[in-house]
Amino acid sequence: MGAIQPIVTISRRGAERIGAGHVWVYRSDVVQAEGVAPGSVVTLREDRGRGARATLGSALYSSASEIALRMISRVPVTDIHQLVRERIRAAVAYRDRFVRDTNAYRVIFSEGDFLPGLIVERYNDILSLQVLTQAMDSPEMRATVIDELKLGLEPRAIVERVDARVRRLEQLEEKESGLVWQGASTIEGGATDVSPVEENQQVGRGRPTPHQQLTIEFQMNGVRFLFDALGGQKTGAFLDQRENYAATGQYARGEALDVFCYQGGFALHLARACEKVTGVDSARAALEAAEQNATLNGHELEWIEANAFDLLRDYSDASKKYDCIVLDPPAFARSKRDLATALRGYKELNLRALKMLRPGGILVTCSCSYHVGPQTFLETIQAAARDSHRNLRILENRGAAKDHPSVLGIPETAYLKCLIADVS
Ligand code: SAH
Repeated sequence: MGAIQPIVTISRRGAERIGAGHVWVYRSDVVQAEGVAPGSVVTLREDRGRGARATLGSALYSSASEIALRMISRVPVTDIHQLVRERIRAAVAYRDRFVRDTNAYRVIFSEGDFLPGLIVERYNDILSLQVLTQAMDSPEMRATVIDELKLGLEPRAIVERVDARVRRLEQLEEKESGLVWQGASTIEGGATDVSPVEENQQVGRGRPTPHQQLTIEFQMNGVRFLFDALGGQKTGAFLDQRENYAATGQYARGEALDVFCYQGGFALHLARACEKVTGVDSARAALEAAEQNATLNGHELEWIEANAFDLLRDYSDASKKYDCIVLDPPAFARSKRDLATALRGYKELNLRALKMLRPGGILVTCSCSYHVGPQTFLETIQAAARDSHRNLRILENRGAAKDHPSVLGIPETAYLKCLIADVS
């Protein structure tokens, strides 16, 4: 616990970044990290030349990532497990203060909660865990995290949802998504969300395999959703849009189109305010889940499996009209290199949507690409407005919900943009 930590020295440029409030040190700013084991907790020092050193705090080391170090504390840590427990408790307390009207939210948002490399979401009484770095993947760290989550949130089960790409980049061993912990009171057999009678009948059928179903219902803003905890899809729900769903519901009316609808997050909120709602996505499985969610809420919505670019082109060419259009595409710019292409994509989508909005219509347009900054995003929408000869008045300029805290000094934590505008 109190073992002496390896020391890593970094350049002045790296130290200045840390001094400005960021928590990442890139590999190019590492001066000396010889012999440091993957995933170690290290003491971070600035190399000031002529042997002078200044201690900056403690960081988590990755031997693989371009982000070689992620600060975990600005004073050297003596007991990392104790610190992680405190950070988890603080994250839980933060949600208790600021999260309302939902039993699904992000409990831990990596750097946003000063727990780099760890993401935890809550869906009713199931927790979903994602580990993104070598340090968070160690068996000891996993045990600490799982234990503290159990104490703080008393879940029924904890599942892990693996991001295979990130694990490869971090040179972590391959792993399947699946159940990592299940409470003693959980009915064996794995099926959940069943009536007590059914539950009793299932006792003794053995523990669930990862291929069995663990489906739970959760609700946000009074809308009901199903969450397939062990389902094949990478993500559960886009919880970061929760407050934007509610805001959108306040302005929408008439005929609405939810483009990139996934499992119907916006569409189901629109359904409470609009006469007709159509959701569009290219993933059939997402639309099937969306349809189940609609049924659960007693709504009849239209779902269209299509490439959004093609559909918007066809619909706008055919002069189709709507009173509200939501655009929530996947991240087009995964790196800076993609920026120009991404901006063309955003402009095209927004241009088509603007052409289809009736006067007084509502445009809800989002981007979750960190590399597209808020100003650039606004300029892109403005370019689309100019080309479509529409005037936009901004009703709301929003970001992610409060359970995805954005930390000043760590701009990557403020990745989501959601603009709601009146279009005339
Ligand atoms: N609005 C959703 C989240 C959207 S995520 C919510 O609030 O839950 C992005 C979605 O875009 C995914 O469901 C993905 O299947 C879909 N998608 C990606 N490329 C697409 C394309 N070219 N056309 C239509 N849908 C696409």
